[in-house]
Amino acid sequence: MRNTNHYKHWPLRLPKNLTVPQTTLYENLEMSTRKYPDKVAFHYYGASYSYKELFKEVESLAGYMEKEWGIKEKDNILLFMQNSPQFIISFFAILRLRAVVVPINPMSLTKDLEFYVKDCGINHAIVGQELYEKALPLKKENLLRNIIVATYSDYSKEDDAFIQRVAKSADGEIEAIPWREALNKELQASTYKGESGDIAIIPYTSGTTGLPKGCVHTNSTVQANTVGAYHWMNLTADTITLTTLPLFHVTGLIHSTLSPIYAGSTLVIMTRWDREYAAKTIEKFKCTHWINISTMLIDFLSNQNLKNYNISSLEVIGGGGAPLPEAVGEDLYERTGLRFIEGYGLTETISHTHFNPPDRPKLQCLGIPSFDVDARIIDTTTGKELGVNQEGELIVNGPQVFIGYYQRDEENEKAHIEIDGKRFFRTGDIVRMDEEGYFFIVDRLKRMINASGFKVWPTEVESILYKHPAVQQACVVRAPDKKRGETVKAFIILNDHYKGKVKEQDIMEWSKGQMAAYKYPRIIEFRDSFPTTSSGKILWRVLQENE
Ligand code: AMP
Repeated sequence: MRNTNHYKHWPLRLPKNLTVPQTTLYENLEMSTRKYPDKVAFHYYGASYSYKELFKEVESLAGYMEKEWGIKEKDNILLFMQNSPQFIISFFAILRLRAVVVPINPMSLTKDLEFYVKDCGINHAIVGQELYEKALPLKKENLLRNIIVATYSDYSKEDDAFIQRVAKSADGEIEAIPWREALNKELQASTYKGESGDIAIIPYTSGTTGLPKGCVHTNSTVQANTVGAYHWMNLTADTITLTTLPLFHVTGLIHSTLSPIYAGSTLVIMTRWDREYAAKTIEKFKCTHWINISTMLIDFLSNQNLKNYNISSLEVIGGGGAPLPEAVGEDLYERTGLRFIEGYGLTETISHTHFNPPDRPKLQCLGIPSFDVDARIIDTTTGKELGVNQEGELIVNGPQVFIGYYQRDEENEKAHIEIDGKRFFRTGDIVRMDEEGYFFIVDRLKRMINASGFKVWPTEVESILYKHPAVQQACVVRAPDKKRGETVKAFIILNDHYKGKVKEQDIMEWSKGQMAAYKYPRIIEFRDSFPTTSSGKILWRVLQENE
């Protein structure tokens, strides 16, 4: 890490009544392996692996990285992979060396990767096989020194079409260490001496403004929510979790992986969302817990074949990241007798700061503050605290709140506010709290678009659109969408000599090649002018509100 100076201003302040374990995430795995060595840690497309086996692979991968790469504490390692056993093995192996996991969305393109690698000073990567070609140019340009490439089919037994397709994509130029070869070393580090204050993960987000920024999380901030979710979801060693949310994102990582591993329970990992396979899997493994995002649940419930599966083993269904429409929550209840348990949080808070109490949840509601969270609502202009049923910006303080954005002093200043001697993180979400203390999201201050839980930042899309020669001005906003909840819409003013020659579809097609699939505008509308302030700033809200 290049510069840690600004972290010293924000020591973690734990409320007195909370006990966040002062142990590390790696020790959670160690503890569960000691307790349940022969228990199944995960099922993956027809194959099963015990905690003992998982732990052994973690140790040998760590051994390889230590001996062959010379990885040491605080080195940032890129983890660019879809959901798979190797994601989890890599995650813990990196932590075993007290190095730092930088998990990246598998939809990222090479130029996105280049940004992350430079921004976070990364030299080494572990990537999924089908993503390897996106990482290869960085190796050729010496931005990445080493890559391990993981083949998902190594861990599966079923003839799953996706796994097979990925396995085939191995042909081509490989300048990486194959996964199996990377598992052939013994770990030298004799005793593990990790500390709860060690930086553990730097997941990326764009926060409330602009371009992606790394959120610095320690073992302790992650433990706070790992243990919080363990209690909230009522996990036990007998829990069987269906893991469908992407693991690079905080909700999938905490709720569908780290908390179940803390409980010593079993995961059923799916690499790619498939509603039929999910229903079959719940029936087959008698899954008890499933944390998802609204679009997944909507798709799951609209499957005509669902009635043919026995999903009565499910005890907890919940999720967050985007609102679940009330009608879908009602539908779920009618069919299964289960109440959807919605939660709310951000990458900066390593998933939830709010959740609905399972015994008294409300629909389309963020829930109540988690055990240890001080959540307040402030007037966005005066900063004054507001009361019941008044709308304002949500600010939070708690042990899961990140240390800060990686090497972004200015952004860190803007993202925080001090009240009563406490440092609060400004979420950029406009909320209200009802008489019973339940929070509801009303709007967003930030220009983020929430498309099926994937967050898109208009400024980033706009800066790419401006590279098209026909684009004179661009303004990207969110538009309602039946399937994705919200989608990306671009208003564009064309350069004069392109008018009548370039069509909306041409720009859309071009955009597809320029940015990750979830970001490109699905709707494009040409305009002759934009509403602007007197200083010429585009009034994006005016354009958005007419949607
Ligand atoms: P991320 O950093 O990707 O986890 O995105 C965090 C943002 O997702 C929040 O600031 C909210 O705008 C949104 N979000 C999270 N949970 C919910 C929820 N339950 N309902 C509505 N929006 C949510």
